[in-house]
Amino acid sequence: MPGFTPGRRYQPPFMPFKRQPFRKRALAKIEAAIKGPLFGCRMCGNCLLQETAFICPMECPKGLRNGPCGGSTPERCYVDASRPCIWYKIYERSFKLGREALLLEVLPPMDWNKAGTDSWGDVFEQAGKVGIKNVASGLTSGGADSVSQTLDSIFRPVRQPGWWQGDSEYHAPKYEGAASELEQRLKAGEFVVAAEVTPPLSVNTGKLKENIEMLKPYVTALNFTDSASAIPRMSSLACSKTALDLDAEPVMQITGRDNTRVSLQSNVIGASALGVRNVLCLTGDSMALGPGPQGRLDIVDLDGIQMLWVLRRMRDEGKYLDGREIKFPPRYFLGAAASPFASNMKFQALREQKKVNAGAQFFQTNVVFDADALDEWLNEITRRDILDKVYILIGITPLKNYKTAAYMAKKIPGVFVPEKVLKRMEAAKEKGNEQEEGLQIALELVEKIKPKQGVSGIHIMAVGWEESVPRIVTEAGLGKKGLP
Ligand code: SF4
Repeated sequence: MPGFTPGRRYQPPFMPFKRQPFRKRALAKIEAAIKGPLFGCRMCGNCLLQETAFICPMECPKGLRNGPCGGSTPERCYVDASRPCIWYKIYERSFKLGREALLLEVLPPMDWNKAGTDSWGDVFEQAGKVGIKNVASGLTSGGADSVSQTLDSIFRPVRQPGWWQGDSEYHAPKYEGAASELEQRLKAGEFVVAAEVTPPLSVNTGKLKENIEMLKPYVTALNFTDSASAIPRMSSLACSKTALDLDAEPVMQITGRDNTRVSLQSNVIGASALGVRNVLCLTGDSMALGPGPQGRLDIVDLDGIQMLWVLRRMRDEGKYLDGREIKFPPRYFLGAAASPFASNMKFQALREQKKVNAGAQFFQTNVVFDADALDEWLNEITRRDILDKVYILIGITPLKNYKTAAYMAKKIPGVFVPEKVLKRMEAAKEKGNEQEEGLQIALELVEKIKPKQGVSGIHIMAVGWEESVPRIVTEAGLGKKGLP
């Protein structure tokens, strides 16, 4: 068991793809022999230990390098319940050691050319550039500041290569006006409604078009999921284009699970060219939730935060990840998911701040069933000083029946269904009025959530019950206003 990585479940180290020169092979062997027993090092070739409270993040089965996913719990990883969430452990220790500010730095994806090779060679090279004398005097001068500055001068350029340059700062969008109607309405202070439309399972777009036409008069934007729960369906891009053709505004959801760094960039360029102006970045549900045979469970090329970082720079700096210029950059309003009830609200709030720094301009939260408990998360968000930088749309799901409520409570990571909601739905089942009760619960939630400071709208996820949306919007008095 590695000394500094609690509860680690063994995963083999990466192997280099190409044969390395003898000097690098020897150094890699020494590094693995020391960091293996200490940290369970997997030899990713771009060490992040300094930022992660000396717990190796490469144990995370989703390969996340920027914090826990929205399904993390204090007890276990949702992909593999037999191990703890390593990111929960990292956050827990960082907060304990007062190192939580370091967690805000947006860390790069792996450079697979370096996988399985040493990272010490880069450290020695950088120390040489700083100057051995400077390093020695910086480390021995006695002051804590001097030691930390010296270490930073060595480690930061190594973990933040020129093609990434991640930091802990907020980067305001560099465009004037609004990229989409959703942004325009939010900027004008309207309490907006977005709704999710389930993409079809076949090439028949009849029901999809029907739902779009039905919801268009009631909501500002329609979200199209990207194979939610790792179940293949019509792509979010195809649904978004269908919505545009019907004069409705789409939010194209895009997951890191199904995209490499190449396909992500290609897809948003294509989507932007077709007129999609809202893009929601998600790491994505693990393959573990989907039907078998399961695809790779362990590698996500880019996590949600890295996706935001890449897409913001494509739009605002006109550059691909590899540095090539984009003559006509894409234009979009960038969103991300927030998960108020996953793990610990303090941890989640830090993760949301990191997303805002990386480029998130709006959040659509996971489903909320407890409006009172939401206050704690909103307080944490307020403490992080990001309320003036991001719009928050709270996720609402009208429960169609007791079975759905019980399933969500047990099976959906990051969703908390209070006992009293479950009991109401169970009683409604006995009386035969489950749908009516589900709608009333949703309406009560909207009423409680609407006046909360920092909430800019709701996002209705009707999960195949799109017919319920017009009634919720109408009875909650949330009709669309004339365009500002
Ligand atoms: S971050 Fe990478 S190099 Fe550092 S301990 Fe983990 S696997 Fe090893």
